[in-house]
Amino acid sequence: MCFSENMRILIVEDEEKMARYLKQGFEENSFAVDLAFNGMDGLHQATHEVYDIILLDIMLPEYSGIEILKRMRNQHIYTPVIFLTAKDSLHDKVSGLDLGADDYIVKPFSFSELMARIRVCLRRSTGNFRDMLNVDNLKLDPLSRKVFCGDKRIDLTPVEFSILEYLMRNSGKVLTRTMISEHVWDSNFESFSNVVDVHVSNLRNKIDKKFGMRLIHTVRKVGYVLEKQDKLF
Ligand code: CA
Repeated sequence: MCFSENMRILIVEDEEKMARYLKQGFEENSFAVDLAFNGMDGLHQATHEVYDIILLDIMLPEYSGIEILKRMRNQHIYTPVIFLTAKDSLHDKVSGLDLGADDYIVKPFSFSELMARIRVCLRRSTGNFRDMLNVDNLKLDPLSRKVFCGDKRIDLTPVEFSILEYLMRNSGKVLTRTMISEHVWDSNFESFSNVVDVHVSNLRNKIDKKFGMRLIHTVRKVGYVLEKQDKLF
């Protein structure tokens, strides 16, 4: 079940054993995973990093999961949130949903149940993330992880694939080097901006140069945008 490639997830959970168990499960499903073990760190990461989805325990030291969600939404951060709640915190659960949590799951839960909830949540938030992506002649199939220009297959490394998928999902939007590296690697990755540049340059050689297209554009001092040339200016 490989629906979730390259998704980036934050788990805020003070039961370290549980958090590490979840991290391992998600990594086996190709997620990039960050952990926070208290509300303070969780809030910081949720508001300073870019995630596709956040799992928030409610009962946490320092800030509760509810408080973190409240502050995120106040800062206009609309990353989907799923609460992990203890059975007895029904009241919290209800107020969490009122605040704009996307779902909740009551402990104890099975990993497969959690994955199913996440799948629904991601499908809702990213649209049809299993669908073929098309920009001009370029086609990317997120499920089979294949990329084509017309009917010609393009071979990409896993990192190149992740970056291209991210650019295509956001075609027309400028993505900074930081956004790209944060999306593709977890925050422990020693990233240098020129690592992103090297991969993008390889993508250009394999796509634009090889097929005589101009899809991947540099935005000076900012980052990259993937867009059909005739749409620019
Ligand atoms: Ca807890």
